[in-house]
Amino acid sequence: MKIVLLLLLCATSLFGEKVIVMLGAPASGKGTHAKRISKELHLPHISTGDLLRENVKGETALGKEAKGYMDEGKLVPDALVQQMLFERIQKPDASEGYILDGFPRTIAQAEALEAYTKNAQVVAIDIEVPKEELLKRVAVRQKAEGRADDTQEVAKKRLEVYAEQTAPLIEYYKAKGQLHVIDGNRTVESVYKEIMGQL
Ligand code: AMP
Repeated sequence: MKIVLLLLLCATSLFGEKVIVMLGAPASGKGTHAKRISKELHLPHISTGDLLRENVKGETALGKEAKGYMDEGKLVPDALVQQMLFERIQKPDASEGYILDGFPRTIAQAEALEAYTKNAQVVAIDIEVPKEELLKRVAVRQKAEGRADDTQEVAKKRLEVYAEQTAPLIEYYKAKGQLHVIDGNRTVESVYKEIMGQL
């Protein structure tokens, strides 16, 4: 038992922290699964959308700058989001790794993350859901959570932004051999099982 623990410890320090990147369009279920994986693997769930919403609510300088972009379904500029994220992942609870939900969203962000986490073991999970299903889910979520950016008009804009700026990340992680594609158009339970099987 002691030897196994020792080997595990060596492996962690050798390969660095575990970074799980949740890709997938708005309402693909990445947040739901990220939360569950976080509990199961004891790694913090870090959602840049949640961090930004906290800043908006707290009326911080970052929140004030980010709000306009978020309300329109556009991406907040890379530099702002990166600074916020890198501050978060320096906290001690993230030293063994973390689950990223909503970051990276551009190739520039992915490159910045890569430079920042040189020895990390990175796994990217792409949850694929057809567009019509995503729009239905957004409508349901708006009733449940009342998110300002879940109106059909803003949701459509967010899907466009996803296709243009975030979907290229699928190729980016595929080329690095770090990508796992999951069919997200099934029950939450079967999607979750498949993700855990890949991790
Ligand atoms: P989410 O909760 O992940 O859907 O994010 C909500 C909104 O926050 C997005 O529509 C963007 O305006 C902003 N946002 C979240 N993460 C990022 C990111 N990595 N880069 C730029 N903007 C982001």
